[in-house]
Amino acid sequence: MNYYSLNKKAPNTTFKNAVVKGLAPDKGLYFPESITPLPEDFFKNIDHLSNSEIAFTAIKQFVSPEIPEAILKTIVEETLSFDFPVVTLDKNVSTLELFHGPTMAFKDVGARFMARCLGYFNKDNTNEVTVLVATSGDTGGAVANGFLGVKGVNVVILYPSGKVSDIQEKQLTTLGQNITALEVDGVFDDCQDMVKRAFLDDELTSKMQLTSANSINVARWLPQLFYFIFAYKQLHNTHKNIVFSVPSGNFGNICAGMVAQQLGLPIKHFIASNNENNVVTNYLKTEDYNPKPSVQTISNAMDVGNPSNFIRIQEIYKNNFSALKENLSSFSFSDKETKEALATIYKEYNYVADPHGAVGYLGCKAYLKNNEDVHCVFLETAHPTKFLDVVEEVIKEKQPLPEQIQSVIHKTKVATKIGSYNELKSFLLKN
Ligand SMILES: *Cc1c(COP(=O)(O)O)cnc(C)c1O
Repeated sequence: MNYYSLNKKAPNTTFKNAVVKGLAPDKGLYFPESITPLPEDFFKNIDHLSNSEIAFTAIKQFVSPEIPEAILKTIVEETLSFDFPVVTLDKNVSTLELFHGPTMAFKDVGARFMARCLGYFNKDNTNEVTVLVATSGDTGGAVANGFLGVKGVNVVILYPSGKVSDIQEKQLTTLGQNITALEVDGVFDDCQDMVKRAFLDDELTSKMQLTSANSINVARWLPQLFYFIFAYKQLHNTHKNIVFSVPSGNFGNICAGMVAQQLGLPIKHFIASNNENNVVTNYLKTEDYNPKPSVQTISNAMDVGNPSNFIRIQEIYKNNFSALKENLSSFSFSDKETKEALATIYKEYNYVADPHGAVGYLGCKAYLKNNEDVHCVFLETAHPTKFLDVVEEVIKEKQPLPEQIQSVIHKTKVATKIGSYNELKSFLLKN
C-alpha cells in the first residue's frame, strides 16, 4: 500500500517509508491511497475466526507487500497476546475493555505493532531510528514497553512534569535500556511543540532519523481498527445497531474505527466523547474548527487542544460536513460529571470504570436519549487503577492492583529534566 500526505505537497510513499518517517516531508499526515472493503463473507463467518486471523485479514492491505504475509502473521499474533473482552452492562450499554495489555491502556496494541514493524524494517541493522514521542499519559508507557529492547531503535519520551499519574510516570521512567524519559517543565502541548520542532530542525534531522510513535504514525494508528471488529464479533449475534462511544483526545482511535467501517464493518454511528477539551464537540455544533490550548482534567490522556488526527477524519468524509454529522456525534463532559458517572457505573452495575471510560459511558447515555434502539459500546481505554487517586476517591473502596501495575510501582524513576527546546536538542545531539 502506498500513502499520500494530507498536505498534498509531498510524493506518495511506501508503508515502510511512512512508518520510518512518521510525517511526510511537507509535514502532512500520511493516509492510505485506498481502503478496499473486505468481502462480506469475512463478517458473516467472523464467529469462526480468531482475533489474530481477524486482525491479519483487516490490516493486510495496508502493509503488504512490504511485510511478507508470514511475518505479518507473527507480528499480529505477538501484538495481540491478550484479551479484548466486551462486558455488557444492560440492554443498551456494553463496554469493550482495551486494558489487558502490558501497560493497561489501549495504546499497547498500536505501540507493539509499530515496534515490530520498525524492528522488521531494521532487521539488517541498517536503519537506526530515534523514536521521539510526547505523551499526555498513556502513550509513553505503551511506547516504552512496546519498543523495549527493539534493536536499532532508541526511544525518547517527553512528558509534562506533575501532569501524568504516578503509575503512568513509573511506566515510562523505569525501563532503562533503549528507553529515555525527559521530564518537561510545562504542559502536554509544550512537549508536543518541542517534538514538532525537532522534526522541523534540519540540523537534527540531517544527523539522525527521527520518527514519531504518536498516532500520527500509520503503524500506531491503523491497528486500532482491530478493536471495533473484535467488539462486533462478540456482540453481533445479540445486538444489531451497534454504535461506539470513543473517549477521544487526539482522535486516532475513533478515526481507526471509521477505517474499520470503511472496510465494511456494520457500525451504525460513532460518538466522540470528550472531556472539557471540546474542539470537536464545538465543531459539530458550529462548523467552526477552533483549536484551543488544552486544559487539565482527570481524564488526562484526552487533554488535547488540537487533535492531530481530526484531519484524517475530514479526509474519510471528503470534507463533507453533513456526511460527517450523519455518522458522528460528539459530547463534552466536565470532571464533576465524570466523577458522578464513575459512581453511577459502580452503583448500578458494580463495575469500576476509569475516568476515560466514564466519559465514554456519558457519551453513550447522551446519545441514547434520542436513539433508544441502538446498542452503545463505550471503549474502556485504560484500567481504573492507572488513575487510583480519582477512582478510590469516588468509589470509596481500595482497588486491588493488577500484576502489570504492581510490577512497576516500586521501581525507581529515572528521568532527565528539561525546560526548553534547546535542552532537548542538545540532549539528542549528545546521545
Ligand atoms: C490516548 C488515550 C485516549 C485518547 O485516544 P485518542 O486516540 O488520542 O483519541 C483515551 N483514553 C486513554 C486512556 C488514552 O490513553
